[in-house]
Amino acid sequence: MPPVTQEPPAPAAETKSVIDMSKMNEGQRAALQVTEAARESHDDLSFVAHLFMGRWRPGKLYPLTEVDADEKARADKFLAELADFLREKVDGDRIDRTGEIPDEVLAGLAKLGAYGIKVPREYGGLGFSQTTYGRACQLIASHCTNTFAHLSIHQSVGVPQPLMLFGTEEQKRKFLPRVAGGEISAFALTEVGVGSDPARMTTQAVPTGDGEAFILNGEKLWCSNGTRAGLLIVAAQTPPKMVDGKPRAQITTFVVEAKAPGVEVVHRSQFMGHRAIYNGVIRFTGVRVPRANIVGGEGRGLKVALTTLNAGRLSIPAASIGVAKRALQIAREWGGARIQWGVPIGQHAAVAEKIRRIAAHTFAMEAMLTTTSRIVDRDKQADIRLEAAMCKLWATEKAWMCLDEVMQIRGGRGYETEQSLIARGEKPYPVERLMRDNRVSTLFEGSSEIMRLFIMREALDPHLKIAGIALNSERTWGERIKSALNAAVFYAFWYPRQWLPFGGGSPAGMHPHLAGGMDEVAALSRRMARTLFHQMLRHGVKLEKRQVLLGRFADIGSDLFALAATCVYAQKLLQDGEPAAKILMLVDDFRAQALVRVEQNFRGIGRNADQHGYDLAQQVLAGEHQWVERGIV
Ligand SMILES: Cc1cc2nc3c(=O)[nH]c(=O)nc-3n(C[C@H](O)[C@H](O)[C@H](O)COP(=O)(O)OP(=O)(O)OC[C@H]3O[C@@H](n4cnc5c(N)ncnc54)[C@H](O)[C@@H]3O)c2cc1C
Repeated sequence: MPPVTQEPPAPAAETKSVIDMSKMNEGQRAALQVTEAARESHDDLSFVAHLFMGRWRPGKLYPLTEVDADEKARADKFLAELADFLREKVDGDRIDRTGEIPDEVLAGLAKLGAYGIKVPREYGGLGFSQTTYGRACQLIASHCTNTFAHLSIHQSVGVPQPLMLFGTEEQKRKFLPRVAGGEISAFALTEVGVGSDPARMTTQAVPTGDGEAFILNGEKLWCSNGTRAGLLIVAAQTPPKMVDGKPRAQITTFVVEAKAPGVEVVHRSQFMGHRAIYNGVIRFTGVRVPRANIVGGEGRGLKVALTTLNAGRLSIPAASIGVAKRALQIAREWGGARIQWGVPIGQHAAVAEKIRRIAAHTFAMEAMLTTTSRIVDRDKQADIRLEAAMCKLWATEKAWMCLDEVMQIRGGRGYETEQSLIARGEKPYPVERLMRDNRVSTLFEGSSEIMRLFIMREALDPHLKIAGIALNSERTWGERIKSALNAAVFYAFWYPRQWLPFGGGSPAGMHPHLAGGMDEVAALSRRMARTLFHQMLRHGVKLEKRQVLLGRFADIGSDLFALAATCVYAQKLLQDGEPAAKILMLVDDFRAQALVRVEQNFRGIGRNADQHGYDLAQQVLAGEHQWVERGIV
């Protein structure tokens, strides 16, 4: 349906920050300056970015791009061989118990080409699409999470991904064939004081006198694959640049040879799960790195790291789908086989509810990831930051919910190790191992809290560009008044449209049931957009501090994206000849569950105890409620 009224164009993007940093302390200001400078910028808003503005752009998702027939045939063969290899040669339980992936497994994976699934064929890789890479991640993670982590870290954030995005032709020719052929790579960003906030990085790279190289000094924490890697991507501080008369921190990324003198593994970290992740503390002492090994340019390191994480962020949700499918399989088999109180436990309503939740959310996860992957396959430059962040946030949290549900369905057996089950002669469903391995998924490569903040930063970006300067006390009055006038004109058109009862419109040719679902998402997106606007008016620049409130918007947006994706994905399945009754049953059930959550979140925006809760937490931190801790050892 064409737009009802035309909004005036939003004012052009600003080069100076539109965010008011005047009330921030030095640490907050530095962190924000560094991450703001590293943000990707795209002219064309994505489906989800439009959704937050109450604009309905289904053409950005629909129809799903078809996978090229030649690729499909090659991919099916590769995935079948990979599945056989996993079944025959990879013992996930043994890898977990020993903390080692046997050399013959690594060699076998290399022979299959599994180290360079997306690396173009001209550089020695298999040259597959994002869709095929996602299918491979799903397959591997459903069987052995350690093997998945090893391959995914290597190619989603290790050397291949940043080089494919930012590498020079020379770098690609030099390093990609090595890593695609099985030389292990790792990504070293985190430090003891640098977790979610990279601005405080202490690892330093100082140029040599002749400018030909840099000398690297520092220590990186939790570098996965790091204890076995041949090549590392390392982020370090390079000399600061002067911006507006003040020194501005510069972060640069380098490809570093792990065998270079001065590179040392000083500790192998051990975790609750992922016991064969080869994760360690890597120390760099006077390591000489050629200038030619800078990736993406000096001072652009955080942009390289964040863009790499954005692009690589789709592998973890792919793994979450594999894990959720495994949970569904276990829930189905055990829910039907285990008889208690005279019937299979799956017939007790409380257990059936869990099976239903696992099934519907697994379907929705796959819909979200497939839809997003196809956008990438259609246009590698497309802006998928919001969609990818939502896939990561939503799928990792929902996969954890699925694991929690299947643990409950398995009862005491869910808590028992595979070895103990085997010793008693029972089938070793790996629920205990899956839980240990997957808890970290909501923590690393962007924790859930950081994903919600990231989503809302991007969701609010159009508003910040329109009205941010008017509210920014660091700008001149002239700039602020001009911005306020522009904003007034924009919102005079935009705001009334968010109340219109129409303005959806599903793409032509969609099944009527799915078209209805799409219309519903369009209407809810306008409700989300106007509610967000009301909160902007209410809280002004302080909205940024209301993380719990913003989190509800991130969750509503994620559920709306999931709802739209299930309709688009279901339409494709129908076109491929899948039976309508079965597909629509899942679509409807997911819709019912998601709409309850969306409604709860809307209610929570209007009525909540967030401030009270925040005040209590600060009192707890100040030790005022230590009395609650009485009675423990
Ligand atoms: C098994 C494992 C493998 C890893 N592999 C790698 C790797 O290969 N390479 C690498 O560089 N790193 C790696 N990491 C590090 C990982 O990416 C970090 O753990 C992650 O970035 C979070 O940092 P942190 O643990 O220091 O948490 P912190 O940043 O200290 O955060 C602690 C908590 O506070 C929350 N928080 C922080 N800031 C905010 C904020 N502004 N607002 C709201 N909440 C906030 C976080 O969400 C989290 O819940 C790995 C970690 C693990 C556990």
